[in-house]
Amino acid sequence: MKSNVRVRFAPSPTGPLHIGGVRTALYNYLFAKKHNGTFVLRIEDTDQTRYVANAEKYIIDSLEWCNISFDEGPNKNERFGPYRQSERKELYKKYADTLIHSGWAYYAFDTSEELEAHRKGHEKEGKTFIYNWHNRKKGRLVNSLVLSEGEVKRKINAGENYVIRFKTPQDNILQMEDEIRGNITIDTNTLDDKILFKSDGMPTYHLANIVDDHLMEISHVIRGEEWLPSMPLHVLLYRAFGWDSPKFAHLPLILKPIGKGKLSKRDGDKLGFPVFPLAYTNEITKEVSSGYKEDGYFAESFINMLAFLGWNPGTEQEIFSLEELITSFDLKRVSKSGAKFNPDKTNWFQQQYMQTKNNTALTEVYQTILKEKGIYRDVVFIKKIISSIKERAIFISDFWGLSSFFFEAPQKYDEKASKKNWKIGTTELMNELIEVISNIQFFSSENTEKIIKEWITTKEVGFGKVMQPLRLALVGALQGPHLFDIIEIIGKEETIKRIKNAIEVL
Ligand code: GLU
Repeated sequence: MKSNVRVRFAPSPTGPLHIGGVRTALYNYLFAKKHNGTFVLRIEDTDQTRYVANAEKYIIDSLEWCNISFDEGPNKNERFGPYRQSERKELYKKYADTLIHSGWAYYAFDTSEELEAHRKGHEKEGKTFIYNWHNRKKGRLVNSLVLSEGEVKRKINAGENYVIRFKTPQDNILQMEDEIRGNITIDTNTLDDKILFKSDGMPTYHLANIVDDHLMEISHVIRGEEWLPSMPLHVLLYRAFGWDSPKFAHLPLILKPIGKGKLSKRDGDKLGFPVFPLAYTNEITKEVSSGYKEDGYFAESFINMLAFLGWNPGTEQEIFSLEELITSFDLKRVSKSGAKFNPDKTNWFQQQYMQTKNNTALTEVYQTILKEKGIYRDVVFIKKIISSIKERAIFISDFWGLSSFFFEAPQKYDEKASKKNWKIGTTELMNELIEVISNIQFFSSENTEKIIKEWITTKEVGFGKVMQPLRLALVGALQGPHLFDIIEIIGKEETIKRIKNAIEVL
């Protein structure tokens, strides 16, 4: 049975979803699932000037990639639908009118020129113009609080532009509760009378958001810290309507890796990491932004990393599956202060998840990549390679760089390493080594290691004198996994061939 916990992720489709938005969706999802509740997706597209056509699809695709599935949303269990605010626009005017009738809102006819003049006038005196009780009192503003009823009617009937503003109560100390920040107190005299309904016949974010949260029976509003300044208005709106307010939880900001302030796309561009879950093409400029998915991150590591940006389980455990996150998540363990984004930590999570991947599945993926390169090798061979390189791989795309020498003999040898390690006497040693290798019967990693090391010991030369040139001959550089694993995987014949080639070239 579902509980009464109902949360929502309410993005505005104004562009690609930033990772901060994904984290908000994730925390809402975790909270809903933990409490056996419902996770709703609502598209807040009332601001037509900022609407971007492909953004909604982008948001839905991103959530899908992250495995954050919503229970209700556009075209899905539309119990309280529609879930796109633009499709609900007829509904909001009625609520704005209710507030007019109860005296919680008023018509304002001030033109943008008039408002600009007020702003400039205040600026000249070193003040900031706020459309609120203070200026209302002065009688300079053109609204239904100062005009006669007849005058207001005449203006509306004449088709004059108007907006509906919230009448913020005066001299009121508002006490509010945030699930993360605790008690918050604000003097209502510092607030402005926000527009609830615009001259274009559309509600503003504030009105639509409150009306919808109420109608959709939202129990907890979990959203980014940037919405904290809106909380007093929202709490007052619930009071004005006579509705129960949901609980609020404002999540900490995600901060730049270096310096101060909120993480932005520019930080990602500068330091070379994506700030979007999926790659995104701007419809107008055609600019392409990178995404975690396309950059090769696993959805699980991306989600695990995001979960830790502002929350911690209170234990040492860092690797959490989505299921484990659901069990452990608690708003009480979400921090108040901003979370610094750390791209290295993202890669650490990715590498950890790589280690948990099944070798058979990775073999299959790598076999396809190899086929695209025209390399056809059997599964057993590829699987051996996967187990020897996996530890050092962060991305699937690292596989080739870490293992190309298994498939092709070195074309060239690292110059510096050759100079340093291929010395007088090396060729003779290598020739002798070929003899030793030819005589090995059982060509396993352990056995070749034992025999070659014994031979080195009896020769009384340093291990490096043999091992380094041998690695150069097999890999072309002083890199790669355990040398004897390489020998086993490529086999006796290929090992000898490569040593002979190195003797010839170096
Ligand atoms: N539409 C708002 C946004 O884009 C929603 C804020 C909220 O969750 O109340 O983030």
